[in-house]
Amino acid sequence: MGIDGASDGAFHFGQALLPDGWADNVRLTVRNGVIIALERDVAPQAGDERRPVVLPGMPNLHSHAFQRGMAGLAEVRGPAGDSFWTWREVMYRFVDRLSADDLRAIAALAYMEMLEAGFTRVGEFHYLHHDRDGGRFADPAEMSAAIVAAAEETGIALTHLPVFYAHSGFGGAAPGHGQRRFLHDLDGFARLVEAARDAARALPDAVVGVAPHSLRAVTPEELRQVVGLAGGAPVHIHIAEQVKEVEDCVAWAGARPVEWLLANVAVDARWCLVHATHVTPAEVAGMAASGAVVGLCPITEANLGDGIFPAAVYLSAGGLFGIGSDSNVLIDATEELRLLEYGQRLAGRSRNVFAGAPGRSTGQDLLDGALSGGAVALGAPAAIAVGHAADLVSLDVGHPALCGRRGAALVDGLIFAAGRSAIDGVWRRGRQVVNTGRHQRREAIVARYREVLERLTQ
Ligand code: ZN
Repeated sequence: MGIDGASDGAFHFGQALLPDGWADNVRLTVRNGVIIALERDVAPQAGDERRPVVLPGMPNLHSHAFQRGMAGLAEVRGPAGDSFWTWREVMYRFVDRLSADDLRAIAALAYMEMLEAGFTRVGEFHYLHHDRDGGRFADPAEMSAAIVAAAEETGIALTHLPVFYAHSGFGGAAPGHGQRRFLHDLDGFARLVEAARDAARALPDAVVGVAPHSLRAVTPEELRQVVGLAGGAPVHIHIAEQVKEVEDCVAWAGARPVEWLLANVAVDARWCLVHATHVTPAEVAGMAASGAVVGLCPITEANLGDGIFPAAVYLSAGGLFGIGSDSNVLIDATEELRLLEYGQRLAGRSRNVFAGAPGRSTGQDLLDGALSGGAVALGAPAAIAVGHAADLVSLDVGHPALCGRRGAALVDGLIFAAGRSAIDGVWRRGRQVVNTGRHQRREAIVARYREVLERLTQ
């Protein structure tokens, strides 16, 4: 059962962020969840849903929903040298125990929190495919169906990205025991993608792409075949997140991961390069020229100690970016954007890095960049315009951090001074899913999540 309520109606906003900037007194008419008319400088009409300020819903271009269930469980110091790789061992132990129903309960909590935080579409980079012993389900998309069910229950839009994973290291190294639930051969993966497309038809506007996990988990020939399954849909890959990964890639191929990818694969606007943290100026220029979107996940990258993306040079080359909540250790769109800017400030000892020109607002350029890059990466629009889904986020202008602000200053207030507590209502396809910051199904979703987590953490 999906979110209830009419998806036909009309809205009136005192200020609205439209593709060409802020506009006043904007009225939207919505039919079957889609904006069919947009008027500016008009008065509200009787029966309109009236709000002072509205933004488009934000795409979350990179999530592993199940990892929400282990948020905060990897914050205890180990014997020596804690790193991404020791975190991954904790993640593998958690993943060992999850059933399809557990996955659904955890994903529903994560997607609910995403909507409350202003994310209205999620790119689910989904690699947990098989049963707990590694055995195959009768339906290859059993676990994908749990993700689809969580999206349906919460109302979030889904770009589903089934992951191809076959090896534990560069050069086709044999996978380890902890990876048994992730693995496919190419024929099995093609069947999964087909079955996932069928499962996603339960949703009104799902997109199904593909995700070769990383260059360490696929061979060049597998990569070519997996990308071939995408058609025009998005292709997402983890790349250059870790220094060790870069070193291993150089040892394998004599080239760095992004360098190798750009030289050997036709990378274009279908591609989302997730993290791309450790890149040279030449790789940065190549990524920007390719039309691909770099998927930045600042909270997770900080949590895992990955490093800092060279944003200033990438932005000056015209590169596209979006934001993702990745490990879901904390789900907060405003904090992703704030930390994205603050990481650059700390590393470069400067301010207003994401502002595109003198006089531009940093918050506005962060928001606009993440909206447009996120839309490209997830294969679905993220803007308030005729023909698009009515995916809307209203702000609480009574919040002290927003007092007396208009337009771009509201966005700076939201990102730098208020955070998600200033997010008020959220609508998906014209239906309200979040009211005064709370998802309409919060109670039931949290109750079921609590049951699952109490069992899994025993
Ligand atoms: Zn990831």
